[in-house]
Amino acid sequence: MRISGPKALEIARRIFRPRHPPQDLPSHRLRYGHIVDPESGEVVDEVLLVFMRAPKTYTRQDVVEISGHGGYLVLKKILELVLREGAREAAPGEFTKRAFLAGRIDLTQAEAVLEVIEAQSEEALRLAQRQLEGRLSREVQRLKEMLLDLLVPLEAWLDLPEEEIPQPNEAELEEGIKGVLESMEKLLEHYRQEVVYREGIRTAIVGKPNVGKSSLLNRLLGRERAIVTPLPGTTTDLIEETIVLKGIPFRLVDMAGLSSPRDLVEEEGIRRARRQLEEADLLLLMVDRSRPLDEEDEDLFREVRTRGKPTLLVVNKVDLPAAFSPEELKDVRAEGPYFISALTGQGVEALTQAMVDVALRGRIRTSPGELVPLNLRHKRILEAVRDDLKQLLASLDEMPWDLVALELRGVLHRLGEIVGETTPEEVLEEIFSRFCIGK
Ligand code: GDP
Repeated sequence: MRISGPKALEIARRIFRPRHPPQDLPSHRLRYGHIVDPESGEVVDEVLLVFMRAPKTYTRQDVVEISGHGGYLVLKKILELVLREGAREAAPGEFTKRAFLAGRIDLTQAEAVLEVIEAQSEEALRLAQRQLEGRLSREVQRLKEMLLDLLVPLEAWLDLPEEEIPQPNEAELEEGIKGVLESMEKLLEHYRQEVVYREGIRTAIVGKPNVGKSSLLNRLLGRERAIVTPLPGTTTDLIEETIVLKGIPFRLVDMAGLSSPRDLVEEEGIRRARRQLEEADLLLLMVDRSRPLDEEDEDLFREVRTRGKPTLLVVNKVDLPAAFSPEELKDVRAEGPYFISALTGQGVEALTQAMVDVALRGRIRTSPGELVPLNLRHKRILEAVRDDLKQLLASLDEMPWDLVALELRGVLHRLGEIVGETTPEEVLEEIFSRFCIGK
C-alpha cells in the first residue's frame, strides 16, 4: 500500500509499531513491525514499512509504503485504518499524475509508465523504457530549439525597432522551417515502425472449414488451445491469440468459413469474421492440399482479392498426397505459396519468417534500439504541427512578419502539448484515467 502527501508520515506513525528501536521512522529505511489499530490496540498485520521524505520520492511528496501479507481482508483492514487516520483513496494514475504535476517527469514519461505496464513484447517494453528515460522529450526539445532559433531574431526585430537588428531573411527562414519539417518527418517515420512492435500485426487465418486453421494456430502458439475437430465448421467463435515473432506481436484470429451459413449462429460468425477481415493487417489464406480446390476456395480467393491486403497463401497438409497441382493456384493474388503441414510442423518456420518480412516491409530499417518512442497522441500532434508548418512555408512570401511570428509561436505551443507543458486539462485527465489505481 502506498500513501503520498504531507500527512503520510503522521499517519504511518499512528498505525505502525516498529519491532526494534528507534521508534522514529528515518527516511528511506525499511522497518519491520506491526500495523496496530491505535484505538483498539489490535494488531492487524506484520509488515515492512518504508518512509521516504520528499522530494526524493516518486511523487516528490512524502511517501509511505507498507508491505503486508496481502490477502483481501488484511489489506482491507489496513486500508480502513489509513483512511480513518486521514488519507483518501487515490484516483487511477494519481501517483504518476502527482509526479508529473511536481515536474519530476514530463507527460511522455508519465505515459511511458502505462506503456511499461501494458507492454506485450520485449521490444515494446524496451521502447517504453526508453520513453521513460525521456528519449522523446529530448527530441521535442530539439525541435523547439530549432524553432526558437528562427523565432527569437524575428521577434527581436519586430519588438525592438530602435535597435539595429537586421531584418529577417526570408530565404534563411525558409531553410530553417524546412529543417524542422525534415526532423519531424523522421520522427513520424519512427512511429510507423514502432506501431508494429507496440500494437502488433492483426493477422487473420482465412480458409474454408477443415483446411487446418486451428491446427496452424495451435502450432504457432505451441500449445493446444483452439479446439481441433475433424468436423467442418466447428470454429464458430473467433479466438484471438498473440504470438511474438522477432519482437513483433502477431494477433492471430482463426476464422470460420465465410460462405453458406447453415443457421443463425453461423451467420453471426460470418458477420464477425468479415469484420475481422476488414480490420486485419495481414491475411494467411489457407487451402488444404489433400482435397481438390472447390467453389468455396474460389469464393475466398475472390473475397481476399477485393481486400487488397498483404496476403500469404498457405498450402496445408503437405504430409498427405496432393489432390491438385500448384499450377491451379497461380491466379491467386497472394505471396507464396508456402507449403506447410500444421500437423508435423514442416514449412512453418519459413512461413513465420515471411510473416515478419511482411510486417517490416516498407518501413525504415532503424534497429529497434535506435527508435524514438512515440504513441498515437504524440504522432497526431506532430502531424498537425507539420501541416501547419507546411502551410506557413507555402504562404511565407505574402505573409507579414508579425503573422509569421504568431504562427511560429502557435507551433511551439502545440509542440509543448507532447511533453505536457501546454496540454489541456481534459487531455491530461483522459491520459491518467487509463492507469490503474495505485500507479
Ligand atoms: P479448421 O476448421 O480450418 O480450423 O481445421 P482444423 O485445424 O480443425 O483441422 C481439421 C482437420 O484436419 C483436423 O482433423 C486436423 O487434425 C487435420 N489437419 C490439420 N492440419 C493437418 C496437416 O497438416 N496434415 C494432416 N494430415 N492433417 C491435418
